[in-house]
Amino acid sequence: MKLQSYSMIFVLALVGCGKKTADQAAQSNGHWEVTGPLSGVVDELSREKRAGKCDSAELDMKMEIVTAVDKKLEELSKNPESNKWDESQKAIKFHGGALLSMEMEKLKKSGYQTYDNSWKELYTYFKKNAANPPKEYWAIVNNYARSLVSDDAKRIGGVNMGIDENTAPVIIDILTDTQKCAKDLSCVSPNYSKAELDAIAKVPYYTSYLADIHNSAQIGERRDLITGFVDRLQYDQDRYGFGLNDSIKTRKNNDKIEIELPLIVKGFSTEDRKTLTDLIARWTDKNHSTLFRFVDGQDSTAAKFYTLFFDNIPGKRDFTNTENREIHMIQYGDTRAFAHEIGHSMGFPDHYYEMWSPEQCTYTYRHNGDDIMSDHATGYVTDDEWKLLDKSYPVK
Ligand SMILES: [Zn+2]
Repeated sequence: MKLQSYSMIFVLALVGCGKKTADQAAQSNGHWEVTGPLSGVVDELSREKRAGKCDSAELDMKMEIVTAVDKKLEELSKNPESNKWDESQKAIKFHGGALLSMEMEKLKKSGYQTYDNSWKELYTYFKKNAANPPKEYWAIVNNYARSLVSDDAKRIGGVNMGIDENTAPVIIDILTDTQKCAKDLSCVSPNYSKAELDAIAKVPYYTSYLADIHNSAQIGERRDLITGFVDRLQYDQDRYGFGLNDSIKTRKNNDKIEIELPLIVKGFSTEDRKTLTDLIARWTDKNHSTLFRFVDGQDSTAAKFYTLFFDNIPGKRDFTNTENREIHMIQYGDTRAFAHEIGHSMGFPDHYYEMWSPEQCTYTYRHNGDDIMSDHATGYVTDDEWKLLDKSYPVK
């Protein structure tokens, strides 16, 4: 990330909402989306088996930042008045609180862009501006630090940080062919297409799995490695693949396809529901309209429905838990983040990707400002996403 654009840090950090599955939460020791105080988490992560050179070399720097963030957040929670959002910011009232409607300029370049994040960069900003902090200083430091801690937790927890927009769609094919081999007791080497092999070559995790399989002379061990690779791929498919929501109904209404999403909104007023209806306007185009079927409480037919929560916890970010089917919006969250979370509830994964360089101690992100599942601040539903929706939820 380039620091000349401070406001981007704030926005991009908010972009990073969590799509959570039980597996990922388990693999990342429950710190998939890091909320609350950070210093305990950073300390704990540095002791994990999978923590690397960067984690020990940068520990003091990280602790200095997160201890300051924790102190600031504690101060704010003791003094709610000081946590009041600047009234000059555009905000809309929602469920006894407020959502921000931030005006974002669309990025000039379209398609996928790359930028870097690192503790070193945050530390430079943190120190340089500490004496004379700009108005957005703590928002930037909090969001940037939280984003880095979440990434550290994911990386150390075993998330595969070598996948991008080109390899992600091929995971399902690699998984299918690896599963085929795992199920066939006589198979000692999965059969991959050229496209699959190209994708495998680009992902360090996969390259090493495949090398281990091919280097293993002992059949039993080789079969175990193949099963292990299936688990790895299944885990990545959950993270990067599409997950069907079988409570969605589609129908033809005049020339449009109407997509109906049940949403449990217990205790939300008529005005809240009107706001939510406005907020999913991004999921409408000339051929589709998306609407909610609001459900008041949990009943026997609602077991598969998503439930909406509005949290008032400082420092938290919007997220969707696909395992428990929960959407969490936060006080002073960006109105447009909701449409991104709704995308998760329809089955879409995040379309932003993180790579990790253990040499540079740097995360490299790829994100697409045109795509709501990649960047909620500027993105809309892409043609590919509409096509996938039509295919996944056909009108019966
Ligand atoms: Zn997300």
